[in-house]
Amino acid sequence: MLEVADAIAAVLKHAKPLKTEVAALTTAALGQVLAADIVADVDSPPFPKSLRDGYAVRSTDCASLNAELKVVEEVPAGKMPTKPVGAGEASRIFTGAPLPDGADAVVMQEHAQAFEGGRVKITDTNVKARQHVYAQGTEMKAGAVVLSRGTPINPAAFGVLANVGKTAVTAYPFPRVGIIATGDELVEANMKPKPGQIRNSNGPMLTAQTVRGGGLPRYLGIARDTHAIAKSLIAEGIDVSDVVLIAGGVSVGDFDLVPDVLKELGVTIHFRQIRVKPGKPLLFGTTENGKLVFGLPGNPVSSFVGFELFVRPAIRILGGHAEAGPRTIRLPLAEGLAESNDRPTYRPAKLELGEGGWSVRPLPCSGAPDLVGLQPADALLSLPAGDARADRGAIMDVVLL
Ligand code: AMP
Ligand code: MG
Repeated sequence: MLEVADAIAAVLKHAKPLKTEVAALTTAALGQVLAADIVADVDSPPFPKSLRDGYAVRSTDCASLNAELKVVEEVPAGKMPTKPVGAGEASRIFTGAPLPDGADAVVMQEHAQAFEGGRVKITDTNVKARQHVYAQGTEMKAGAVVLSRGTPINPAAFGVLANVGKTAVTAYPFPRVGIIATGDELVEANMKPKPGQIRNSNGPMLTAQTVRGGGLPRYLGIARDTHAIAKSLIAEGIDVSDVVLIAGGVSVGDFDLVPDVLKELGVTIHFRQIRVKPGKPLLFGTTENGKLVFGLPGNPVSSFVGFELFVRPAIRILGGHAEAGPRTIRLPLAEGLAESNDRPTYRPAKLELGEGGWSVRPLPCSGAPDLVGLQPADALLSLPAGDARADRGAIMDVVLL
């Protein structure tokens, strides 16, 4: 049976960034990854800019106590100065306005007293050259790379891209993820289950995990536990997706049709089991044209954990991210634990901020079907196989969700 790290490595060996596209910079592009460097077309700021409301001055004019200067004009943001500031002169200036020629500093209006007749007294005797002035090109110079390829488009990137006049960029698309639930016992959420039936949790859950993980979900419905129905739905899934998720039917029961169907559809199966709890039966395969197929366990908590550990990293790589994850950090335990597991185990857990900083608290979760127990989790606590005994404060590996 494969170890978790080896299974992730096996998946990532087959995960390649998708063909890039031109993406319009609407909020739909939030989280896409740039596929080309972005070069500034302007200096920013494009002129030396005042960072305060006050007076543009020559710093050397302000050395004596209560220096009096002649105000030659008023420069609001959006207007260019028309007069230089000569010796003994100042311009009234506002935040964001260009600094006039001759001036080398801005005195805050709190340190100035305006008089009748267009004069101003500077009450600050310690005016330094360049104070409250943001020099031209400090943030970026025209021609410089301001965002490099591989950068995820986060909210600040939208601002940078706007500053350099971009309304569209070359980016990696969000991977298309087809999602199929399997099982004769399943009905959709809008149905009342008849005796023996349950509602389909995995479909909506995996759809949401896909969005959170940077994929574009396409829910394809429930495949019944008959070979023909499962085969046609899975074939459709492979057709319309970069990654196909099939929840349930991957174990070794009589109705677990997925592995056979996949073989018939020409999917090469790379592994079927992982040494992990929950979610030992987890299948990974690839099609001839490089699409990724995951058979996830039917039990919702197992399906959830399998997605986070194995599917989400694949989606990230297809989407052009440099780091696959899963993102693991080390945190102290908020409460002690003592348990014994036959396999390496991932326990739903919650991050907590207390007086001593962040810690992680395992959540009570009654087992692989218990989504209510899992739901508050924002992390998975990683426990080794065997006797796991750890005191409060012990430092543990935690996978962030
Ligand atoms: P299976 O892997 O198909 O044997 O399913 C394992 C368990 O998970 C069974 O108890 C199923 O009823 C349950 N299960 C499978 N698919 C779903 C689903 N989409 N939503 C909720 N439970 C499911
Ligand atoms: Mg089933």
